[in-house]
Amino acid sequence: KKITIAIDGFSSTGKSTLAKQLAKHLGYVYVDTGAMYRAVTLFAMQNNYIGADFLDKEKLVKSLPSIKLSFKFNPELGFAEMYLNDVNVETEIRTLEVSNFVSTIAAISEVRSKLVEQQQEMGKEKGVVMDGRDIGTVVFPNAELKIFMTAGADTRAQRRFDELQAKGDSVSYEEVLKNVVDRDYVDTHRDDSPLVMADDAIEVDNSYLNRKEQFDVVLELANE
Ligand code: C5P
Repeated sequence: KKITIAIDGFSSTGKSTLAKQLAKHLGYVYVDTGAMYRAVTLFAMQNNYIGADFLDKEKLVKSLPSIKLSFKFNPELGFAEMYLNDVNVETEIRTLEVSNFVSTIAAISEVRSKLVEQQQEMGKEKGVVMDGRDIGTVVFPNAELKIFMTAGADTRAQRRFDELQAKGDSVSYEEVLKNVVDRDYVDTHRDDSPLVMADDAIEVDNSYLNRKEQFDVVLELANE
C-alpha cells in the first residue's frame, strides 16, 4: 500500500538525497519543496523586490498570482527539475545568493499559503516523498511516515561547501557555515509555520550515518 512520506529538518541535512533515493526505490514521486521557495526567491531577486538591505513585500505579494512553479522530470538526472514561469531554473536556485535570501521570502505568509496549497495538490495521491520544513506539521499532518533529519552545523556546512565547490562556486567555508546557521535561526523563529519536529516524527541524526546506512534505516521504517 502506498503512503505519504514527509521528510523535514534543518538545512543541508541530506533530506533531498534521502528523499530521492527513497522515491526511486519505492517508485514514488519526489517533491522538493525547498526548490519552490528558492524559485520564488529567484523571482523576487530578478524583479528587484529583494536585495542586500531591502524587501518589497507588497510588490512580491501582489505578483504572486503571476508566478508559475512547475516540476519536469529529467530522465537523464532521474529527478524533476524546477521551472519558474516555464524556464528551467534548477541551477540558478542553488547559488549561495539565493540561499542567503530564501529564508526571508519563506517567512512571508502569503508565499507560504500559495506554496502549501500547490504542495497539497501535488501530494493528493499517495506514493509521494516530500521534503521541506513543514511537511509533517502543516502540508501533510496525516502523513504515514514522518522523518526529522538533524546533523551538526559543521557537518552540514562542510557538505554544502563541498557541493558548491564541485559546481565551481567560489565561496568560503565560513560563508557557507554562516548561511546554514542563519537559515536555521530564521526558519525556527518565523511566526508562520516555524520549523519544529512533528510530535509523531522519527528523528534521524545523520552526523554519523553514511548515505547507505541512513537509507536502510528509513526504508525499513517505510516498509513497516
Ligand atoms: O530545503 P532547502 O534548503 O532547499 O530550502 C530552502 C529554504 O526554503 C529553507 O531554508 C526554508 O527557509 C525554506 N523552506 C520552507 N519550507 C519548506 C521548504 C523550504 O520554509 N517546506
